[in-house]
Amino acid sequence: MLSDPFANRARKLDAADELAPFRSQFVVEPGGPIYLDGNSLGRLPLGAIERAHAVVEQEWGERLIRGWNEGWWTLPERVGAKIARLMGADPDEVIVADSTSVNLFKLALAALRARPERPFILSDDLNFPSDLYVLASATESAGADRRLEVVASPDGITLPQATQAEALETRRGEVALLALSHTTFKSAFVHDLAAVTALAHQAGAWMLWDVSHSIGAMPLDLRAAGVELAVGCCYKYLCGGPGAPAFLYIRRELQEQLANPIAGWIGGAAPFHFETEYAPARGLRRFLTGTPPILSLTLIEPGVDLLLEAGLDRIRAKSVRQTEFLIELSDALLAPLGFELRSPREADQRGSHVALGHPEGWRINQALVERLGIIPDFRVPDNLRLGVCPLYTTYAELHAAVLALRRVMEKRLYEEFSPHPAGVT
Ligand SMILES: *Cc1c(COP(=O)(O)O)cnc(C)c1O
Repeated sequence: MLSDPFANRARKLDAADELAPFRSQFVVEPGGPIYLDGNSLGRLPLGAIERAHAVVEQEWGERLIRGWNEGWWTLPERVGAKIARLMGADPDEVIVADSTSVNLFKLALAALRARPERPFILSDDLNFPSDLYVLASATESAGADRRLEVVASPDGITLPQATQAEALETRRGEVALLALSHTTFKSAFVHDLAAVTALAHQAGAWMLWDVSHSIGAMPLDLRAAGVELAVGCCYKYLCGGPGAPAFLYIRRELQEQLANPIAGWIGGAAPFHFETEYAPARGLRRFLTGTPPILSLTLIEPGVDLLLEAGLDRIRAKSVRQTEFLIELSDALLAPLGFELRSPREADQRGSHVALGHPEGWRINQALVERLGIIPDFRVPDNLRLGVCPLYTTYAELHAAVLALRRVMEKRLYEEFSPHPAGVT
């Protein structure tokens, strides 16, 4: 252990890391766990604590209902405009609303209704299963002739473009929407955003990307690729806090053509006229439905500000270096113990987490959390996900996590845990 070459490497990489100072902008409990689950719930930015005090004590406590005219009303657009900068969209193309699931439903159904001559939504089985449930609900709501078709990944890790192209070609003229997760939740496979969008367009389909696992972890350029629709989550790499509202993107040219399937007063043209007939607001605001959750909405901003300050190119470069380091550690130290890499080896096809398969994955995950103070997460049937958040993850943490995994195996620490997953994993 004295001359562990990986420990030295980790130390050097941390010392040379120009994003290292950002870690001090987050709550990191001294002696607390090594947190490798920022891909599921990002750490708490210090700025969010200050903001929470201000919004509760002053804005709510003192300003009361006047708060609506002092910034709350336009908060969905204002925070949306900031998030737009993380995804290559214009400020008026992104708005914060609802949850990712609800936004996905709204956009998918709006697209199906706008394109009645095309019965299909196409997706793939690497997509977050809940997205598939939502897309199926949207097709059912659009009419009995509408269908969701799910393309199968050949290996459960990647989806070759040729497979995608073939599925689109088979349904030529019939696909209203190709709806995919840009970075897939289990393996972290990343679709080529521009190339796949171009394939969809060649088949006359609109493109909808769920960027939940990409936003804040890598640069995205939705506008340049001509993407029509997108949704995404604010509690992962954006560090917006548990249950933070999500965002939706509609390319400007389509905004006036699409109708919100859950029309509500907040998305109406004149909410305080209380007309019995609904008329939509101009632009993206029509995709709001009910009153926005101001307290959690306002807490999204501090994390986004840190990401903008750090710069997505630097974030992506560090993320690639860190996941590469993790894979190298895993090849050397974990593969001999039965762990199998379940993420792409090619950096350009890999998001910001690394999935490792092991038949005892669930019990290993519990031993890491309960015995060794390492927090990764687990995805059925046997995947441990180790998430890297360049704003606060250190190389030393990655090295320590891999040593902990070795310890769990060598001392068989996992054997004292139940093999049956329960609760939030
Ligand atoms: C995290 C995530 C969601 C979350 O949806 P909620 O509505 O917030 O529960 C949806 N889709 C994908 C692809 C995700 O990664």
